[in-house]
Amino acid sequence: MAGDLFIFCAGSSPVKSAVAPRRRASPRIQPMLLYRTAPEGFWAVAENESDPGLRILYSDPFETLPGGWEYGTEVPRETTPLLMPVRPTKIVCVGRNYREHAKELNNPMPEEPLLFLKAPSALIGPNVPIVLPPESQRVEHEGEIAVVLRRRLSRGATPEEARSAVLGVTGANDVTARDLQKKDAVFARAKSFDTFCPVGPAIRVAADLEDLTVVTRVNGAERQRGHAGDMAFGIVDLLLYASRMMTLEPGDLLLTGTPAGVGPLLDGDRVEVEVSGAGVLSNPVEALRG
Ligand code: MG
Repeated sequence: MAGDLFIFCAGSSPVKSAVAPRRRASPRIQPMLLYRTAPEGFWAVAENESDPGLRILYSDPFETLPGGWEYGTEVPRETTPLLMPVRPTKIVCVGRNYREHAKELNNPMPEEPLLFLKAPSALIGPNVPIVLPPESQRVEHEGEIAVVLRRRLSRGATPEEARSAVLGVTGANDVTARDLQKKDAVFARAKSFDTFCPVGPAIRVAADLEDLTVVTRVNGAERQRGHAGDMAFGIVDLLLYASRMMTLEPGDLLLTGTPAGVGPLLDGDRVEVEVSGAGVLSNPVEALRG
């Protein structure tokens, strides 16, 4: 990850948040927001959420724990671009992790986590358009809590190791061509069209993995709301389960499933996913043209 540019902001969401966290994970590490802002170097800010400035982060957040981070000068948030905050080797996703969502699609709840992969080439950052492909007549949003790995995690890890392997959480939209998902035996096509994985805007470091809320809005209207406590399989259990089969690498993403309320995305829509204290991930939707 060296060579990326991150901006880091202490405090809560950079925007007025409807899902502010109810408590902090650790009295020693202050929850902070980590942004990537340019394709070289790391930048950071350690100010409160209402501060318009972002502080440059000199340290590599994948190498150094927040307590040892070194900061530089301040840059204005308003004029600083916010890019997709991760570059994973793989995106591990969980299907049917909320009972009400399984019910709305007439699916039974799985007895163990239902894993699938989404292609990293589907990743986009905040404000980049989700493009509706002509192959699908029904593209849907799935707002999700995404976990970003800081350290490698593989078979045999303990729950404590899984927890400490997490860099933080962010918002993700597991955009899905629902008609193709129903038609195909595997989800590869339906889940991995280019632009089908918006992520960001920030990684919330030192988040409480058991106390997270995810809200999805389309054109300002709330469509989905879920809490980590409603998951059939919790985040630490999912990390242990997935890492038993495939080693999770620094920067890898785990998408933890979507709550009930999935629905269509249409040309001209704007979809938002907000995860507690990680900011609002907002993307326009447009049909493929030309
Ligand atoms: Mg999903």
